Amino acid sequence: MSLLDKAAANARILTRRELATLLEWPDAHELFAAAYEVKCREIGKRVSLRGLVEFGNICEKDCFYCGIRKSNTAVRRYRMDKDEIVREAEWAFKAGYGSVVLQSGELSSESNTVFVEDVLRRIHAFGGDDFGITISLGEQAEETYRRWREAGAHRYLLRIETSNPTLYARLHPADHSWTDRLECLRTLRRCGYQTGSGVMSGLPGQTTEDLAADIEFFAAEDLDMIGMGPYIPHKDTPLGKNTALSPAERAKRLELGLRMIAATRLHLHDVNIAAATALQALDHEGREKGILAGANVIMPNVTDIRFRSDYQLYEGKPCLGENPVLCKGCIERRITSIGETAVLNGRGDSPRWEKRTSAAKHASIG
Ligand code: SF4
Repeated sequence: MSLLDKAAANARILTRRELATLLEWPDAHELFAAAYEVKCREIGKRVSLRGLVEFGNICEKDCFYCGIRKSNTAVRRYRMDKDEIVREAEWAFKAGYGSVVLQSGELSSESNTVFVEDVLRRIHAFGGDDFGITISLGEQAEETYRRWREAGAHRYLLRIETSNPTLYARLHPADHSWTDRLECLRTLRRCGYQTGSGVMSGLPGQTTEDLAADIEFFAAEDLDMIGMGPYIPHKDTPLGKNTALSPAERAKRLELGLRMIAATRLHLHDVNIAAATALQALDHEGREKGILAGANVIMPNVTDIRFRSDYQLYEGKPCLGENPVLCKGCIERRITSIGETAVLNGRGDSPRWEKRTSAAKHASIG
């Protein structure tokens, strides 16, 4: 039995060496096709949509790779007000997106906690339990996570960026702790969130072994959702200055991002995996390619175009001038063009999470 067949037949049995072999599989198309088959079997030929609202770019952190890090004075800062955020979430709801994702830079003040709580309550009031609310608001105290969960959020994305603490330390200032971030992920799970994380691929100094270890990390933490993207340098950051990618490097970076999706699908089988917008920044059809390599979630941007260009974690972000109505039509056409169906009016929860919660229910009934 070939390694691809072995991975497709049994979830979560590969060793780190075997994961590295998948990541370097000689025929990329063969790798993607095997992962896509697993995606179709586990999830169907369906893509879940989440309307993405990037509601603020003010951040207390200073990650060396990020375009909205607090030390970047070249960026114009913004924060939408509550009415604007709720209006965009409502637009996504009415457009049939089964979920919304609220994302911003990291802020840890009590006033921010209350602000987000209010927004979540208002969205939950019109969307009810059938409208998914994912938040991605960084590292917070357990009490904050609990308050946001009670206010209506039920999924949380917190990317670990790399499972290698030494590499993490090279990408962040000394007061950014990999261990604290890991602890936050575990706290989110305890608070009852569907928990998502992810990494960047193509980082300076990162090895295939590191990426294989990242996939092992996803399995060990039993994550429900994975959001990964290729690293794309931003010129106004310590890591990205003077490192613009050549066309050949962009193609290589895209392929590595797709290989990560495929190897992750082949190892984990039943999690949600996003085809990140960063893939599209590298290739006009990057997100479709992500789906065909095993991803099953796309997050069309519903943020007002007045703000979009100010929320650039990396350079070359696509669709900066495309309003949400155009984005919706465009993304549905793209999904149909590869023989997949966009799921409308469904939360698109992670199958992994559904299995875990239904097993827990049965155990408590039994
Ligand atoms: S990566 Fe996130 S936490 Fe780090 S500076 Fe950017 S927005 Fe802030």
